[in-house]
Amino acid sequence: LGTIFQRAIEVLEIFEKHGHKAFIVGGAVRDYQMGRNIGDIDITTSATPNEVLKLFAKVIPVGIEHGTVIVRYKKESFEVTTFRVEGDYSDYRHPDHVQFVDNLEADLARRDFTINAMAMDRYGNIIDPFNGSSDLSKHCIRAVGVAEERFSEDPLRMMRAIRFASQLGFVIEKETLGALCENVELIGRIAIERIAVEFLKMFNGQYIANGITLVTKTKMLNFFPVFKDNPRLQTKIRKHEATLFSYGELIAVLHLYDECVSIDEWVKTWKLSNQVRNEAKILSNACKYYFENGLTKWLVYTIPPQCDEGFIRLITVFGNEKSLISIEKLRNIRSELPILSNSQLAINGKDIIELKPNYPKGPWIKQCLAEIEKNVVEAKLINNQNNIREWVKKWNPPEID
Ligand code: ATP
Ligand code: MG
Repeated sequence: LGTIFQRAIEVLEIFEKHGHKAFIVGGAVRDYQMGRNIGDIDITTSATPNEVLKLFAKVIPVGIEHGTVIVRYKKESFEVTTFRVEGDYSDYRHPDHVQFVDNLEADLARRDFTINAMAMDRYGNIIDPFNGSSDLSKHCIRAVGVAEERFSEDPLRMMRAIRFASQLGFVIEKETLGALCENVELIGRIAIERIAVEFLKMFNGQYIANGITLVTKTKMLNFFPVFKDNPRLQTKIRKHEATLFSYGELIAVLHLYDECVSIDEWVKTWKLSNQVRNEAKILSNACKYYFENGLTKWLVYTIPPQCDEGFIRLITVFGNEKSLISIEKLRNIRSELPILSNSQLAINGKDIIELKPNYPKGPWIKQCLAEIEKNVVEAKLINNQNNIREWVKKWNPPEID
């Protein structure tokens, strides 16, 4: 077991020493039993948020009204939630009220699927009142309690069922799937920000083809922005089977499947960030350029190193065997580029103005710099001041009206 698990057990011990109950819960218990990599560790406890604040030196109150805080302990972070039951979800976003209880089983009963409703104590004993272990071994996603009720309480759970199918390669149990199909339109009431988190996790799944089949067959896509007005896009993604790692990649891929939908539209309706917008534009432009011109120096220059892997994945999605490239090849080309950004050019706008005294300032300066940049990157012009000066003297600015 990793150190994070060790630390979590120490945290459980601290709770118990002070008379509280505490368990590792949810995804970490599931992944531990499956032998999967464990991401975050969630802890559930009988201690109230105020009691947690007193027990640990560093506590971040992220959602204290819902009973959730983050405990920082020996450089690790744990999401610690007080045992609770939830009231109605009348706005489909937040439970109306949260009631703290002194009972682990009640807390497990409010969780979405049996595989997520197990707890583990500090000795490694599994507390599993809903037979989650058995469903784990059957590769089965089953709602805790009556699926229909659980989905109408919080329709996001339907999207979560599909993302777990995509991450784990599991099958959604028959009744749970039936309730999902029956209630699928309720997903339209969920805030897009909550859907977006699960949607990316779905594409991040190893079994994304499962996920795509499910969002298609259940007609869930009809309730998502952009997809709902775009039957052609829904058809085009049916064959998608590549795991994706960021929203930048995902939006670039969706845009390339159907260029009628702009990246700006995606970012706006899915309430994504400007960073996602930029990354999606860089990636989709790079991909289009690649299929027209190949892996040129200029192309590599326009790809920021943090987008390399995403770019390779996009090429894999839209290319064929012949168009595949390795990341090493991309990096080799970059390592031989004369410059990595225009700030490394041996000349600037001011120099250019001085070299062309007869021209009034205007957009031609930018254009001239851009041409220099391109020529330098493509090794058609050596990046040294005299050299570039000579080039500028011969360069003719476009006609000015
Ligand atoms: P991951 O490995 O992706 O983090 P996870 O199972 O830990 O998966 P989280 O979204 O981190 O999923 O949620 C932690 C736990 O909280 C879940 O395992 C589940 O028990 C519970 N949970 C989360 N969201 C819901 C929900 N909408 N309804 C009921 N229970 C939920
Ligand atoms: Mg988690």
